[in-house]
Amino acid sequence: MKNPDLLLPIRIYGDEVLRQKAVEVTVFDSELREFARKLAYTMYERDGVGLAAPQVGRSIRMFVFDHQWTREGHSKSPVFVINPVIESMAGESVGEEGCISIPEIYAKVPRASTITYTYQDLDGVLHRETATDYPAIVFQHEFDHLDGILFTDKVSDLTKLKLKRKLRELAATTVDGINIRAYDPD
Ligand SMILES: [Zn+2]
Repeated sequence: MKNPDLLLPIRIYGDEVLRQKAVEVTVFDSELREFARKLAYTMYERDGVGLAAPQVGRSIRMFVFDHQWTREGHSKSPVFVINPVIESMAGESVGEEGCISIPEIYAKVPRASTITYTYQDLDGVLHRETATDYPAIVFQHEFDHLDGILFTDKVSDLTKLKLKRKLRELAATTVDGINIRAYDPD
């Protein structure tokens, strides 16, 4: 069932918040939990497998991901990642990526194929995990958002050239550093 109260507006390419270095989360309270609920709801509504807090205009080191989710299949099992640190990276994996903040643009991005990372959950409890291939790629994509890095920064020079005009068109709707795409949830 749709709940517009849980749907957060998405910041689009050109918005300054997408380029900021996000700050650490220090308070793990009910407000953070409520924000997490909205972040996950918005990710699923937008058919995403990951969504970082800066993408909804909140510059804190937090994201949600659910690499197994598809609208048709899998049940929802969102993982909330707070204050992540990537401890090690190995191998290489190149896959096509997209981003909720950069609509209708997809490109191949080189990533590490295996990463080991730590993060805190919504209770502030520390976890250490290793991911390989697709979940590792999703994690790196979301992690980059916390440092103001977008996947289009990491593509080949030729692809950058190809995307230049489309990106400029997206950024053209930015007003006073804010670029929110209206969303009509049918
Ligand atoms: Zn993204």
